[in-house]
Amino acid sequence: MAFSYWESNTWLEGVDLVVIGAGIVGLTAAIHARSMRPHWRIVVLDADPIGGGGSTRNAGFSCFGSATELQQDRQSFGDEDALNLVRKRWQGLQNLRSTFGDDALGHTVCGSVELFPNGGGTCIPSAQELQDLNRWIQPVTGQVETFVQIQAHSLPQINAKSENTAILSPLEGLLDTGKMNRAFKSLAHTKGIDILAGIRVETINSAKSGCEMQVSAFSRGNASITATRILVATNALGATLIPELDVQPAVNHVFVTDRIPGFHFPHAVHIDAGYIYARPIENRILMGGGRHWGLDEAETRKRLKSMMIKLWPATEAVPIAYQWSGQLGVGKNRSPIVQWCGPNTLAAVRMGGMGIAIGMEVGRLAAEELTKN
Ligand SMILES: Cc1cc2nc3c(=O)[nH]c(=O)nc-3n(C[C@H](O)[C@H](O)[C@H](O)COP(=O)(O)OP(=O)(O)OC[C@H]3O[C@@H](n4cnc5c(N)ncnc54)[C@H](O)[C@@H]3O)c2cc1C
Repeated sequence: MAFSYWESNTWLEGVDLVVIGAGIVGLTAAIHARSMRPHWRIVVLDADPIGGGGSTRNAGFSCFGSATELQQDRQSFGDEDALNLVRKRWQGLQNLRSTFGDDALGHTVCGSVELFPNGGGTCIPSAQELQDLNRWIQPVTGQVETFVQIQAHSLPQINAKSENTAILSPLEGLLDTGKMNRAFKSLAHTKGIDILAGIRVETINSAKSGCEMQVSAFSRGNASITATRILVATNALGATLIPELDVQPAVNHVFVTDRIPGFHFPHAVHIDAGYIYARPIENRILMGGGRHWGLDEAETRKRLKSMMIKLWPATEAVPIAYQWSGQLGVGKNRSPIVQWCGPNTLAAVRMGGMGIAIGMEVGRLAAEELTKN
């Protein structure tokens, strides 16, 4: 079934910018492009009716990196590149909060703790290493002590021995992922940006004179859409449209328990350099990650659950109420890609594990590129 005259005329013809992907990056880019080019017709296409990508399936950490994760980044990329990356995350978070406000995001700066339930061994930073990390990150956070060593057993409702160390990061927080997505979509609508869900872009043909996309549209079959320029903001799936992009999907499994009467844990939790994460949602626990174990889904979920019970024995008999999986966009490098892939086709992908933090910054950079000429 082809698009009607009205469908074509209202939404699909004469489009100045098509953004593929209605996640944090795509919507931010569309909103910024609108403010720089008020007369552009901007359309955001998404294959999924609700979201489908990391933006609606994440854990809601407004984080910029646990101490051990940042230490690893410094070792892998060097101090300067690692600091640039953490600065982008920090700026992205400040942008997010100032654009929407904490209430609309369900955001609280509740602090995070990094726990070492398996002992942690040599990867627990020494007092000297923590001081060095704090000095390194101070130009970004403006704080003398971004990370503070504490005793894990001082945390409420946790099973920890008196000798167990934890690292508190008071500047990190948590948000309500659903509210965040709703806030993005509402802002895009008020700016006159059309978000068309249920349209999957299958191929892109990018030329100097403009771009053509072959799409499959819910109940319509295949069709073709043209636009002056395109932004590919499909993160983990970027290489399915542009194979030369160094980005691959990395699956993360997540669950949320049923309500636990009397349970209250105040912080976000990082374990194993950020590969495992847990957080309270009212009196439930969300737990996820574990891809570094290299296990299948069932085994990963089993291990995550036993880690949860070890840390919070009160969860032992509590059923899992929700479980899902989502895809991170990762590659050889942890930095996002913002790159021209054809005369009028830009890609902004590979957000890694902290796309809430970095997504707005990347979307803004993408919009600046797209509006250069
Ligand atoms: C389980 C999980 C937990 C996470 N937890 C956190 C966290 O706590 N904190 C944090 O900062 N980050 C977290 N992240 C990462 C973060 O969610 C992502 O980095 C971020 O949301 C990526 O945003 P995006 O806009 O680049 O892409 P996405 O949100 O993935 O959006 C891409 C969109 O493109 C659409 N799409 C894909 N292919 C096509 C196509 N061919 N045609 C049309 N549409 C297409 C998809 O349907 C999707 O809606 C997590 C990710 C996952 C998976």
